[in-house]
Amino acid sequence: MHPELAADLHQLPALLEETRQHAVTFLDGLDERPVIPQADPLAPTALGENGGGLRAALAEFAERWQPRLSAGAGPRYFGFVTGGATPAALAGDWLTAAADQNSNSSLDPAGQQLERETIGWLRDLFGLSAAHSGTFVSGATMSNTVGLAIAREWLGERLGVDVAEDGVGALGRVRVLSGSAHSSVAKALSVLGLGRAALTAVPALPGREAVDVAALERSLAEADGPCVVVANAGTVNTVDFDDLRALADLRDRYGFWLHVDAAFGAFAALTPAHAELVAGLDLADSVCVDLHKWLNVPYDSAVQFTRRPDLQARVFRNAAAYLGPLGEHPDLVHLTPENSHRLRALAAWFTLRAYGRAGHQEIVERCVAGARALGEAVTGIEGLRLLAPVRLNVVCFTLATDPTAERLAALAAELAGEAFVTPTRYAGVPALRAAFSNWRTTEADVRRTAAALAQAVEKLGA
Ligand SMILES: *Cc1c(COP(=O)(O)O)cnc(C)c1O
Repeated sequence: MHPELAADLHQLPALLEETRQHAVTFLDGLDERPVIPQADPLAPTALGENGGGLRAALAEFAERWQPRLSAGAGPRYFGFVTGGATPAALAGDWLTAAADQNSNSSLDPAGQQLERETIGWLRDLFGLSAAHSGTFVSGATMSNTVGLAIAREWLGERLGVDVAEDGVGALGRVRVLSGSAHSSVAKALSVLGLGRAALTAVPALPGREAVDVAALERSLAEADGPCVVVANAGTVNTVDFDDLRALADLRDRYGFWLHVDAAFGAFAALTPAHAELVAGLDLADSVCVDLHKWLNVPYDSAVQFTRRPDLQARVFRNAAAYLGPLGEHPDLVHLTPENSHRLRALAAWFTLRAYGRAGHQEIVERCVAGARALGEAVTGIEGLRLLAPVRLNVVCFTLATDPTAERLAALAAELAGEAFVTPTRYAGVPALRAAFSNWRTTEADVRRTAAALAQAVEKLGA
Protein backbone atom coordinates (compact mmCIF):
# COMPACT_ATOMS: atom_id res chain seq x y z
CA MET A 1 0.00 0.00 0.00
CA HIS A 2 1.25 3.50 -0.78
CA PRO A 3 2.63 4.96 2.48
CA GLU A 4 0.20 7.92 2.45
CA LEU A 5 -2.78 5.59 2.00
CA ALA A 6 -1.44 3.33 4.73
CA ALA A 7 -0.95 6.26 7.08
CA ASP A 8 -4.50 7.52 6.43
CA LEU A 9 -5.95 4.06 6.98
CA HIS A 10 -4.05 3.82 10.24
CA GLN A 11 -5.50 7.10 11.55
CA LEU A 12 -8.90 6.91 9.82
CA PRO A 13 -11.06 7.56 12.94
CA ALA A 14 -9.07 10.71 13.79
CA LEU A 15 -9.18 11.95 10.19
CA LEU A 16 -12.94 11.40 9.93
CA GLU A 17 -13.33 13.29 13.19
CA GLU A 18 -11.38 16.24 11.73
CA THR A 19 -13.48 16.11 8.59
CA ARG A 20 -16.64 16.10 10.70
CA GLN A 21 -15.38 19.13 12.62
CA HIS A 22 -14.69 20.82 9.32
CA ALA A 23 -18.25 20.17 8.13
CA VAL A 24 -19.66 21.48 11.41
CA THR A 25 -17.70 24.72 11.07
CA PHE A 26 -18.90 25.14 7.49
CA LEU A 27 -22.53 24.59 8.46
CA ASP A 28 -22.23 26.88 11.50
CA GLY A 29 -21.06 29.65 9.18
CA LEU A 30 -23.80 29.16 6.58
CA ASP A 31 -25.90 32.02 7.89
CA GLU A 32 -23.06 34.54 7.77
CA ARG A 33 -21.05 33.57 4.72
CA PRO A 34 -21.86 35.61 1.58
CA VAL A 35 -24.61 33.71 -0.22
CA ILE A 36 -22.62 34.07 -3.45
CA PRO A 37 -19.00 35.01 -2.56
CA GLN A 38 -17.34 37.50 -4.89
CA ALA A 39 -13.91 36.09 -5.72
CA ASP A 40 -11.59 35.92 -8.69
CA PRO A 41 -11.48 32.51 -10.35
CA LEU A 42 -8.64 30.29 -9.15
CA ALA A 43 -5.99 29.20 -11.59
CA PRO A 44 -5.87 25.39 -11.73
CA THR A 45 -2.77 23.93 -10.09
CA ALA A 46 -0.78 20.95 -11.34
CA LEU A 47 -1.49 17.53 -9.79
CA GLY A 48 2.07 16.76 -8.75
CA GLU A 49 3.54 13.35 -7.95
CA ASN A 50 2.94 13.13 -4.21
CA GLY A 51 -0.16 14.12 -2.29
CA GLY A 52 0.39 14.53 1.42
CA GLY A 53 -2.60 12.55 2.61
CA LEU A 54 -6.10 13.57 3.62
CA ARG A 55 -4.99 16.17 6.18
CA ALA A 56 -3.05 18.11 3.54
CA ALA A 57 -5.95 17.87 1.07
CA LEU A 58 -8.36 19.13 3.72
CA ALA A 59 -6.10 22.10 4.50
CA GLU A 60 -5.77 23.05 0.83
CA PHE A 61 -9.52 22.72 0.26
CA ALA A 62 -10.20 24.91 3.29
CA GLU A 63 -7.81 27.56 2.06
CA ARG A 64 -8.42 27.67 -1.68
CA TRP A 65 -11.88 26.36 -2.48
CA GLN A 66 -14.12 26.48 0.54
CA PRO A 67 -14.21 30.30 0.78
CA ARG A 68 -15.48 30.35 -2.80
CA LEU A 69 -18.37 27.96 -2.22
CA SER A 70 -21.82 29.48 -2.10
CA ALA A 71 -24.24 29.17 0.79
CA GLY A 72 -26.31 26.97 -1.51
CA ALA A 73 -27.31 24.83 1.47
CA GLY A 74 -28.35 27.91 3.42
CA PRO A 75 -31.62 29.72 4.06
CA ARG A 76 -31.33 32.68 1.65
CA TYR A 77 -30.28 30.88 -1.52
CA PHE A 78 -33.49 31.49 -3.47
CA GLY A 79 -32.05 30.91 -6.97
CA PHE A 80 -33.40 28.21 -9.32
CA VAL A 81 -35.33 25.83 -7.04
CA THR A 82 -32.74 24.71 -4.51
CA GLY A 83 -33.18 22.69 -1.37
CA GLY A 84 -30.63 22.11 1.36
CA ALA A 85 -30.03 18.94 3.33
CA THR A 86 -31.90 18.18 6.55
CA PRO A 87 -29.71 16.81 9.38
CA ALA A 88 -30.98 13.28 8.76
CA ALA A 89 -30.54 13.58 4.97
CA LEU A 90 -26.96 14.72 5.47
CA ALA A 91 -26.30 11.80 7.81
CA GLY A 92 -27.82 9.43 5.25
CA ASP A 93 -25.59 10.86 2.55
CA TRP A 94 -22.45 10.48 4.69
CA LEU A 95 -23.35 6.87 5.34
CA THR A 96 -24.02 6.33 1.64
CA ALA A 97 -20.40 7.19 0.92
CA ALA A 98 -19.14 5.22 3.92
CA ALA A 99 -20.97 2.05 2.89
CA ASP A 100 -20.32 2.66 -0.84
CA GLN A 101 -22.95 0.24 -2.12
CA ASN A 102 -23.72 -0.36 -5.76
CA SER A 103 -27.46 -0.83 -5.36
CA ASN A 104 -28.55 -2.22 -8.70
CA SER A 105 -28.75 -6.00 -8.51
CA SER A 106 -30.33 -8.86 -6.56
CA LEU A 107 -26.92 -10.55 -6.51
CA ASP A 108 -26.09 -8.05 -3.72
CA PRO A 109 -29.65 -7.20 -2.74
CA ALA A 110 -29.82 -4.94 0.33
CA GLY A 111 -29.32 -1.61 -1.43
CA GLN A 112 -31.99 -2.31 -4.01
CA GLN A 113 -34.38 -3.45 -1.28
CA LEU A 114 -33.78 -0.23 0.66
CA GLU A 115 -34.48 1.78 -2.49
CA ARG A 116 -37.78 -0.05 -2.92
CA GLU A 117 -38.83 0.58 0.68
CA THR A 118 -38.09 4.29 0.18
CA ILE A 119 -40.01 4.38 -3.12
CA GLY A 120 -43.03 3.03 -1.23
CA TRP A 121 -42.81 5.89 1.30
CA LEU A 122 -42.47 8.48 -1.48
CA ARG A 123 -45.46 7.02 -3.30
CA ASP A 124 -47.55 7.48 -0.14
CA LEU A 125 -46.25 11.00 0.35
CA PHE A 126 -47.37 12.09 -3.12
CA GLY A 127 -50.67 10.19 -3.09
CA LEU A 128 -49.67 7.67 -5.75
CA SER A 129 -51.21 4.20 -5.80
CA ALA A 130 -49.36 0.88 -5.91
CA ALA A 131 -49.94 0.89 -9.68
CA HIS A 132 -46.90 3.19 -9.89
CA SER A 133 -43.46 1.67 -9.59
CA GLY A 134 -40.54 3.99 -9.07
CA THR A 135 -36.81 4.28 -9.49
CA PHE A 136 -34.21 6.72 -8.17
CA VAL A 137 -32.34 8.83 -10.72
CA SER A 138 -29.94 11.75 -10.43
CA GLY A 139 -32.35 14.67 -10.93
CA ALA A 140 -35.58 15.83 -12.50
CA THR A 141 -33.96 16.20 -15.94
CA MET A 142 -33.04 12.52 -15.83
CA SER A 143 -36.48 11.67 -14.45
CA ASN A 144 -38.14 13.50 -17.35
CA THR A 145 -35.77 11.75 -19.75
CA VAL A 146 -36.65 8.32 -18.37
CA GLY A 147 -40.38 9.10 -18.37
CA LEU A 148 -40.22 10.26 -21.98
CA ALA A 149 -38.11 7.23 -22.94
CA ILE A 150 -40.96 5.04 -21.64
CA ALA A 151 -43.40 7.23 -23.58
CA ARG A 152 -41.31 6.69 -26.71
CA GLU A 153 -41.53 2.92 -26.22
CA TRP A 154 -45.30 3.25 -25.73
CA LEU A 155 -45.60 5.14 -29.02
CA GLY A 156 -43.82 2.20 -30.63
CA GLU A 157 -46.26 -0.23 -29.02
CA ARG A 158 -49.18 1.78 -30.44
CA LEU A 159 -47.65 1.88 -33.90
CA GLY A 160 -46.56 -1.77 -33.87
CA VAL A 161 -42.81 -1.09 -33.89
CA ASP A 162 -40.09 -1.88 -31.37
CA VAL A 163 -38.15 1.33 -30.73
CA ALA A 164 -35.69 -0.21 -28.27
CA GLU A 165 -34.73 -2.75 -30.93
CA ASP A 166 -35.09 -0.87 -34.20
CA GLY A 167 -34.37 2.70 -33.17
CA VAL A 168 -36.33 5.90 -33.12
CA GLY A 169 -36.36 6.10 -36.93
CA ALA A 170 -39.10 3.44 -36.89
CA LEU A 171 -41.48 5.91 -35.25
CA GLY A 172 -41.61 8.68 -37.81
CA ARG A 173 -42.54 12.18 -36.68
CA VAL A 174 -43.56 12.40 -33.03
CA ARG A 175 -45.54 15.21 -31.37
CA VAL A 176 -45.11 16.13 -27.72
CA LEU A 177 -47.70 18.63 -26.54
CA SER A 178 -47.23 20.81 -23.48
CA GLY A 179 -48.39 24.13 -22.05
CA SER A 180 -45.39 25.59 -20.22
CA ALA A 181 -42.80 22.82 -20.40
CA HIS A 182 -39.61 23.08 -18.35
CA SER A 183 -36.45 23.54 -20.44
CA SER A 184 -35.29 20.05 -19.47
CA VAL A 185 -38.12 18.52 -21.51
CA ALA A 186 -36.64 19.83 -24.79
CA LYS A 187 -33.24 18.56 -23.65
CA ALA A 188 -34.72 15.13 -22.94
CA LEU A 189 -36.32 15.03 -26.39
CA SER A 190 -32.95 15.86 -27.95
CA VAL A 191 -31.24 13.08 -25.97
CA LEU A 192 -33.95 10.59 -26.93
CA GLY A 193 -33.63 11.25 -30.65
CA LEU A 194 -37.19 12.60 -30.84
CA GLY A 195 -35.80 16.09 -31.40
CA ARG A 196 -36.45 19.40 -29.70
CA ALA A 197 -38.78 20.33 -32.56
CA ALA A 198 -41.13 17.53 -31.47
CA LEU A 199 -42.20 19.78 -28.59
CA THR A 200 -45.31 21.69 -29.59
CA ALA A 201 -46.43 24.51 -27.30
CA VAL A 202 -50.14 24.56 -26.48
CA PRO A 203 -51.55 27.94 -25.35
CA ALA A 204 -51.93 28.59 -21.65
CA LEU A 205 -55.05 30.00 -20.01
CA PRO A 206 -55.17 33.82 -20.11
CA GLY A 207 -52.73 35.31 -17.60
CA ARG A 208 -51.63 31.86 -16.49
CA GLU A 209 -48.97 29.22 -17.17
CA ALA A 210 -51.49 26.35 -16.86
CA VAL A 211 -52.41 24.74 -20.17
CA ASP A 212 -55.71 25.65 -21.83
CA VAL A 213 -57.41 22.25 -21.87
CA ALA A 214 -59.78 23.22 -24.71
CA ALA A 215 -56.82 24.30 -26.85
CA LEU A 216 -55.08 21.02 -26.05
CA GLU A 217 -58.16 19.10 -27.12
CA ARG A 218 -58.20 20.95 -30.45
CA SER A 219 -54.54 19.99 -31.04
CA LEU A 220 -55.31 16.37 -30.18
CA ALA A 221 -58.26 16.28 -32.55
CA GLU A 222 -55.96 17.46 -35.37
CA ALA A 223 -53.13 15.02 -34.57
CA ASP A 224 -52.65 12.17 -37.01
CA GLY A 225 -51.28 9.48 -34.69
CA PRO A 226 -50.52 8.88 -31.04
CA CYS A 227 -48.95 11.77 -29.06
CA VAL A 228 -47.27 12.44 -25.77
CA VAL A 229 -48.58 15.15 -23.44
CA VAL A 230 -46.26 16.65 -20.85
CA ALA A 231 -48.34 18.13 -18.05
CA ASN A 232 -46.77 20.65 -15.70
CA ALA A 233 -47.39 20.50 -11.99
CA GLY A 234 -45.51 23.51 -10.68
CA THR A 235 -43.99 25.83 -13.30
CA VAL A 236 -40.77 27.55 -12.29
CA ASN A 237 -41.90 31.18 -12.74
CA THR A 238 -45.33 31.22 -11.12
CA VAL A 239 -45.79 27.64 -9.82
CA ASP A 240 -48.89 27.12 -11.90
CA PHE A 241 -50.49 23.70 -12.26
CA ASP A 242 -52.22 22.05 -15.22
CA ASP A 243 -55.60 20.52 -14.42
CA LEU A 244 -54.34 16.94 -14.13
CA ARG A 245 -57.80 15.36 -13.82
CA ALA A 246 -59.00 17.10 -16.96
CA LEU A 247 -55.86 15.95 -18.80
CA ALA A 248 -56.35 12.36 -17.63
CA ASP A 249 -59.91 12.55 -18.87
CA LEU A 250 -58.67 13.72 -22.29
CA ARG A 251 -56.11 10.91 -22.25
CA ASP A 252 -58.88 8.37 -21.76
CA ARG A 253 -60.70 9.77 -24.80
CA TYR A 254 -57.77 10.46 -27.15
CA GLY A 255 -55.23 7.85 -26.04
CA PHE A 256 -51.94 9.67 -25.46
CA TRP A 257 -49.11 9.11 -22.98
CA LEU A 258 -49.52 11.47 -20.02
CA HIS A 259 -46.22 12.44 -18.41
CA VAL A 260 -46.35 14.85 -15.45
CA ASP A 261 -43.36 17.02 -14.58
CA ALA A 262 -44.05 17.55 -10.87
CA ALA A 263 -40.39 18.21 -10.03
CA PHE A 264 -41.22 20.30 -6.98
CA GLY A 265 -44.98 20.80 -7.39
CA ALA A 266 -45.63 17.25 -6.18
CA PHE A 267 -44.87 18.50 -2.65
CA ALA A 268 -48.18 20.39 -2.72
CA ALA A 269 -49.66 16.97 -1.93
CA LEU A 270 -48.18 17.24 1.58
CA THR A 271 -50.33 20.17 2.64
CA PRO A 272 -54.11 19.95 2.91
CA ALA A 273 -54.36 23.60 1.83
CA HIS A 274 -52.70 22.89 -1.53
CA ALA A 275 -53.15 19.16 -2.21
CA GLU A 276 -55.94 19.96 -4.67
CA LEU A 277 -53.31 21.40 -7.04
CA VAL A 278 -51.98 17.90 -7.74
CA ALA A 279 -55.28 16.03 -7.61
CA GLY A 280 -55.14 13.42 -10.36
CA LEU A 281 -51.36 12.94 -10.23
CA ASP A 282 -51.91 9.20 -9.75
CA LEU A 283 -53.70 9.02 -13.12
CA ALA A 284 -50.50 9.87 -15.02
CA ASP A 285 -48.59 7.27 -17.02
CA SER A 286 -45.27 8.64 -15.75
CA VAL A 287 -44.36 11.19 -13.09
CA CYS A 288 -41.16 13.15 -12.40
CA VAL A 289 -40.37 14.33 -8.86
CA ASP A 290 -37.13 15.95 -7.76
CA LEU A 291 -35.86 15.14 -4.28
CA HIS A 292 -32.82 17.44 -4.03
CA LYS A 293 -35.24 20.36 -4.15
CA TRP A 294 -38.13 20.27 -1.68
CA LEU A 295 -37.36 16.99 0.09
CA ASN A 296 -34.07 18.63 1.13
CA VAL A 297 -31.72 15.75 0.43
CA PRO A 298 -28.26 16.52 -0.98
CA TYR A 299 -27.61 16.39 -4.73
CA ASP A 300 -28.16 14.29 -6.75
CA SER A 301 -31.54 12.73 -6.23
CA ALA A 302 -34.91 12.45 -7.95
CA VAL A 303 -37.51 9.78 -8.54
CA GLN A 304 -39.24 8.50 -11.63
CA PHE A 305 -42.65 6.84 -11.29
CA THR A 306 -44.50 4.91 -13.98
CA ARG A 307 -47.40 2.56 -14.50
CA ARG A 308 -45.50 0.69 -17.23
CA PRO A 309 -42.29 -0.78 -15.76
CA ASP A 310 -42.49 -3.42 -18.52
CA LEU A 311 -41.85 -0.74 -21.17
CA GLN A 312 -39.19 0.83 -18.93
CA ALA A 313 -37.33 -2.50 -18.80
CA ARG A 314 -37.57 -2.80 -22.58
CA VAL A 315 -35.74 0.52 -22.93
CA PHE A 316 -33.13 0.11 -20.20
CA ARG A 317 -32.55 -3.68 -20.18
CA ASN A 318 -28.86 -4.41 -19.74
CA ALA A 319 -28.42 -7.93 -21.01
CA ALA A 320 -25.24 -9.50 -19.65
CA ALA A 321 -24.50 -13.09 -18.70
CA TYR A 322 -23.56 -12.16 -15.15
CA LEU A 323 -26.80 -10.28 -14.49
CA GLY A 324 -29.19 -13.16 -15.17
CA PRO A 325 -32.72 -13.02 -16.63
CA LEU A 326 -35.07 -10.04 -16.20
CA GLY A 327 -37.91 -11.85 -14.40
CA GLU A 328 -41.13 -10.23 -13.23
CA HIS A 329 -39.44 -7.60 -11.02
CA PRO A 330 -36.34 -6.58 -12.92
CA ASP A 331 -33.29 -5.43 -10.98
CA LEU A 332 -32.66 -1.68 -10.98
CA VAL A 333 -29.83 -2.14 -13.48
CA HIS A 334 -32.54 -2.82 -16.07
CA LEU A 335 -34.65 0.24 -15.26
CA THR A 336 -32.50 3.38 -15.49
CA PRO A 337 -29.87 4.84 -17.83
CA GLU A 338 -27.18 4.10 -15.26
CA ASN A 339 -25.89 0.63 -14.53
CA SER A 340 -23.87 1.15 -11.37
CA HIS A 341 -25.15 3.79 -9.00
CA ARG A 342 -24.66 4.91 -5.41
CA LEU A 343 -27.23 4.06 -2.74
CA ARG A 344 -28.89 7.37 -3.53
CA ALA A 345 -32.07 6.41 -1.69
CA LEU A 346 -30.41 6.38 1.72
CA ALA A 347 -30.52 10.17 2.26
CA ALA A 348 -34.24 10.17 1.41
CA TRP A 349 -34.78 7.13 3.64
CA PHE A 350 -33.13 8.91 6.57
CA THR A 351 -35.02 12.19 6.28
CA LEU A 352 -38.38 10.46 5.81
CA ARG A 353 -37.72 8.10 8.71
CA ALA A 354 -36.48 10.92 10.95
CA TYR A 355 -39.17 13.55 10.31
CA GLY A 356 -42.05 11.64 8.74
CA ARG A 357 -44.82 13.18 6.73
CA ALA A 358 -45.51 15.85 9.35
CA GLY A 359 -41.93 17.10 9.42
CA HIS A 360 -41.81 17.46 5.66
CA GLN A 361 -45.28 19.02 5.58
CA GLU A 362 -44.00 21.67 7.99
CA ILE A 363 -41.06 22.47 5.68
CA VAL A 364 -43.41 22.88 2.71
CA GLU A 365 -45.85 25.06 4.67
CA ARG A 366 -43.09 27.27 6.09
CA CYS A 367 -41.65 27.77 2.59
CA VAL A 368 -45.07 28.75 1.24
CA ALA A 369 -45.57 31.19 4.12
CA GLY A 370 -42.11 32.65 3.50
CA ALA A 371 -42.81 33.19 -0.20
CA ARG A 372 -46.13 34.87 0.62
CA ALA A 373 -44.41 37.17 3.11
CA LEU A 374 -41.65 38.11 0.67
CA GLY A 375 -44.31 38.72 -2.01
CA GLU A 376 -46.05 41.17 0.33
CA ALA A 377 -42.74 42.84 1.14
CA VAL A 378 -41.98 43.25 -2.58
CA THR A 379 -45.37 44.90 -3.07
CA GLY A 380 -44.42 47.37 -0.36
CA ILE A 381 -41.03 48.29 -1.89
CA GLU A 382 -41.26 51.33 -4.10
CA GLY A 383 -39.46 50.55 -7.35
CA LEU A 384 -40.44 46.87 -7.42
CA ARG A 385 -43.48 45.18 -8.86
CA LEU A 386 -44.83 41.64 -8.38
CA LEU A 387 -45.29 40.04 -11.81
CA ALA A 388 -47.59 37.24 -10.71
CA PRO A 389 -49.49 36.29 -7.58
CA VAL A 390 -47.46 34.07 -5.22
CA ARG A 391 -49.27 30.79 -5.86
CA LEU A 392 -47.02 28.55 -3.80
CA ASN A 393 -43.30 29.00 -3.17
CA VAL A 394 -41.94 31.34 -5.86
CA VAL A 395 -41.93 35.15 -5.89
CA CYS A 396 -41.63 36.51 -9.45
CA PHE A 397 -40.97 40.26 -9.53
CA THR A 398 -39.38 43.01 -11.57
CA LEU A 399 -38.43 46.68 -11.50
CA ALA A 400 -41.40 49.04 -11.63
CA THR A 401 -39.67 51.20 -14.23
CA ASP A 402 -37.29 50.26 -17.01
CA PRO A 403 -37.06 46.53 -16.18
CA THR A 404 -34.21 45.63 -18.52
CA ALA A 405 -32.26 42.40 -18.08
CA GLU A 406 -29.12 44.49 -17.39
CA ARG A 407 -30.71 46.51 -14.58
CA LEU A 408 -32.16 43.37 -13.04
CA ALA A 409 -28.76 41.66 -13.20
CA ALA A 410 -27.26 44.66 -11.42
CA LEU A 411 -29.97 44.41 -8.75
CA ALA A 412 -29.35 40.68 -8.27
CA ALA A 413 -25.58 41.25 -8.03
CA GLU A 414 -26.09 43.97 -5.43
CA LEU A 415 -28.22 41.54 -3.43
CA ALA A 416 -25.97 38.47 -3.84
CA GLY A 417 -24.10 38.71 -0.52
CA GLU A 418 -27.36 38.60 1.42
CA ALA A 419 -29.67 36.61 -0.84
CA PHE A 420 -29.45 34.84 -4.18
CA VAL A 421 -32.19 35.18 -6.80
CA THR A 422 -32.06 34.18 -10.47
CA PRO A 423 -33.19 35.93 -13.65
CA THR A 424 -36.13 34.91 -15.79
CA ARG A 425 -38.59 36.29 -18.29
CA TYR A 426 -42.29 36.16 -17.59
CA ALA A 427 -45.11 37.46 -19.78
CA GLY A 428 -42.47 39.01 -22.03
CA VAL A 429 -40.91 40.99 -19.17
CA PRO A 430 -37.39 40.42 -17.76
CA ALA A 431 -37.76 39.51 -14.10
CA LEU A 432 -36.19 37.94 -11.03
CA ARG A 433 -37.50 35.03 -9.06
CA ALA A 434 -37.00 33.88 -5.49
CA ALA A 435 -37.86 30.23 -4.88
CA PHE A 436 -38.41 28.94 -1.33
CA SER A 437 -37.50 25.29 -0.81
CA ASN A 438 -34.84 25.20 1.92
CA TRP A 439 -35.75 23.68 5.30
CA ARG A 440 -33.68 26.33 7.15
CA THR A 441 -35.51 29.41 5.87
CA THR A 442 -37.32 31.36 8.60
CA GLU A 443 -39.35 34.58 8.90
CA ALA A 444 -36.14 36.33 9.97
CA ASP A 445 -34.57 35.34 6.62
CA VAL A 446 -37.55 36.83 4.80
CA ARG A 447 -37.17 40.11 6.72
CA ARG A 448 -33.43 40.17 6.06
CA THR A 449 -34.01 39.53 2.34
CA ALA A 450 -36.69 42.20 2.09
CA ALA A 451 -34.42 44.74 3.78
CA ALA A 452 -31.53 43.87 1.47
CA LEU A 453 -33.84 44.14 -1.55
CA ALA A 454 -35.08 47.59 -0.52
CA GLN A 455 -31.49 48.73 -0.05
CA ALA A 456 -30.37 47.30 -3.42
CA VAL A 457 -33.27 49.02 -5.20
CA GLU A 458 -32.34 52.32 -3.59
CA LYS A 459 -28.70 51.90 -4.57
CA LEU A 460 -29.75 51.19 -8.14
CA GLY A 461 -31.69 54.43 -8.08
CA ALA A 462 -34.81 52.66 -9.23
C1 LIG B 1 -35.67 21.75 -11.49
C2 LIG B 1 -36.67 21.28 -12.48
C3 LIG B 1 -36.32 20.36 -13.47
C4 LIG B 1 -34.89 19.88 -13.67
O1 LIG B 1 -34.37 19.38 -12.50
P1 LIG B 1 -32.83 18.98 -12.27
O2 LIG B 1 -32.87 18.38 -10.93
O3 LIG B 1 -32.07 20.28 -12.32
O4 LIG B 1 -32.42 18.05 -13.33
C5 LIG B 1 -37.33 19.91 -14.30
N1 LIG B 1 -38.59 20.36 -14.19
C6 LIG B 1 -38.95 21.27 -13.27
C7 LIG B 1 -40.38 21.73 -13.20
C8 LIG B 1 -38.00 21.76 -12.37
O5 LIG B 1 -38.36 22.66 -11.43
